[in-house]
Amino acid sequence: MAKLQGEAVARSHGVVMGLVQKLEVGCLHIPEYHVHEDAVATEQMRLQAAVTSALQELHGEYESLQALQEQEPTLILDAHRMLLDDPEFIAYPKGLIVDEGINAEWALKQQVALLSATFDNMQDPYLRSKRLDIEQVGERLLRHLLACPFQPQVLTEQATIMVAQHLSPSELVALWHAGVAGVICVQGSLNAHAMIVARGIGLPVLMGVNLDIHAVRDGDVMVVDAERNRWVLEPSAEEQASYHRVMDAFRLVQEGLMRFAGQASTSLDGTSLPLHANIDTSDELAVVARMGAEGIGLCRTELMFLEHRDVPSEEEQYQAYTQVVLGAAGLPVTFRLLDIGGDKPELFRRCVGYAYQADNPNLGLRGIRLLLQSPEMLETQLRALLRAAEHGDVRILVPMVSLAHELPRVRECMDACMQDLGMDRNVPLGCMVETPAAVMMADVLAGQSDFLSIGSNDLTQYTFAADRGDEDVAAYYQEGHHIIMSMIAQVVEQAHQRQIKVSVCGELAAHEGCTQAFLDMGVDALSMSVQSILPVRRHLSRLQKSMASES
Ligand code: PEP
Ligand code: MG
Repeated sequence: MAKLQGEAVARSHGVVMGLVQKLEVGCLHIPEYHVHEDAVATEQMRLQAAVTSALQELHGEYESLQALQEQEPTLILDAHRMLLDDPEFIAYPKGLIVDEGINAEWALKQQVALLSATFDNMQDPYLRSKRLDIEQVGERLLRHLLACPFQPQVLTEQATIMVAQHLSPSELVALWHAGVAGVICVQGSLNAHAMIVARGIGLPVLMGVNLDIHAVRDGDVMVVDAERNRWVLEPSAEEQASYHRVMDAFRLVQEGLMRFAGQASTSLDGTSLPLHANIDTSDELAVVARMGAEGIGLCRTELMFLEHRDVPSEEEQYQAYTQVVLGAAGLPVTFRLLDIGGDKPELFRRCVGYAYQADNPNLGLRGIRLLLQSPEMLETQLRALLRAAEHGDVRILVPMVSLAHELPRVRECMDACMQDLGMDRNVPLGCMVETPAAVMMADVLAGQSDFLSIGSNDLTQYTFAADRGDEDVAAYYQEGHHIIMSMIAQVVEQAHQRQIKVSVCGELAAHEGCTQAFLDMGVDALSMSVQSILPVRRHLSRLQKSMASES
């Protein structure tokens, strides 16, 4: 096979070499057994029900991809939908169930094998490539038949590099739980949520990779070099030896960094700049403790909702938040209220009870806009968080603020919840500054809040009008541009005039090129992916606050 290598639009950290496993196939154990003739009709009905629910699932995914305006995957899903909609597709396995007296899964497996072999034998490469569609549809149907959610398994004992077309944040976490060592994903960009999760959990991931997924085979050797933004398929023996040396060196650097784990985050002249962690799940708390983060500056709550089959009740949310608070072992935890919108249509529908098709999800009903339209959802989350606050130092952060009436309305709701719960403890309420409008009225927002937190990811996307997840406009998404830095300085000044603290919690917080500027501006804390804490702490320890900024 021809050697292939290339770059990606976005990367996390780490270097790994391992064996490819394509995500689409091979994750399920398929039971094979004979059924009594009385049970034949039931098996056929199971197969039909699986088709119906797979079509519903496809419809949800199709909507979300349409909202993201990602054309290629929409076309792929369209092809899958047509296959499933075609009665001929399940006519054959239905026949097998009767003729051979076998279970639905076994019949389906035979159908997929037969069709795959037919496509494999075709001369036309385009038609041959349709085999993948058949396998993906078959896998989807099997998952529904087996009532088996996305639960990937690694198939070898060696390091596994999962190669996927598209990944959601929860799928990425599932891969990590399964023990995958690295991920190559064809779609995705710098601050796509799955990429942020990858950096948080410390998994080497490349996204936005120009790779023909059909050219990759299970078992191929692949390098994911998320440090130098490179991937190599089937490296030569010399390249493999060189990558072993790179991986050893990387390990040594990581080990060297560990000496900063127990140190305070201060510059050479003793100025303190606490480094907090951004987390999405309580799983990350063990690493937070190991890295010596000085707090959880941003606990996103979306993933807890995404992983729930339904909508988590107040009690379930309370349990989940309490687990984080207790796991943080005394560190302050800033929970952000749910920030969903048209980018997650399925979750949106589940939470709010109706379908919402935003023309541009990033500019639609999202974050606090949605919560204020669904007061019950806001109230439930606030109550759960306030109850969890009884167990530790909890702060609550409001996402996507763009108008001056939003914070006061949340505070009103929070006060009512506290009264109802009979609480009198002060739980600080903070405002995310992540829209240009919020920057321009930072003085007003600082007057309404107990603290501010600057979300540079969205601030960058909205300032440059460049979708943070779209690899095609990645060049316009200028993190750390002097315009963004001066917006941040403006917000810091306004917060300090009102005597409240302000942190930066977007990915920019981890950019070592910006640490000096943050130090000079007097930013009160930086919150970042947990894996970035030690490199930034080491960098900070070599800096001096500039004298000019003291005056
Ligand atoms: C941000 O926008 O910078 C931020 C921290 O929030 P999120 O990445 O979850 O949108
Ligand atoms: Mg944001």
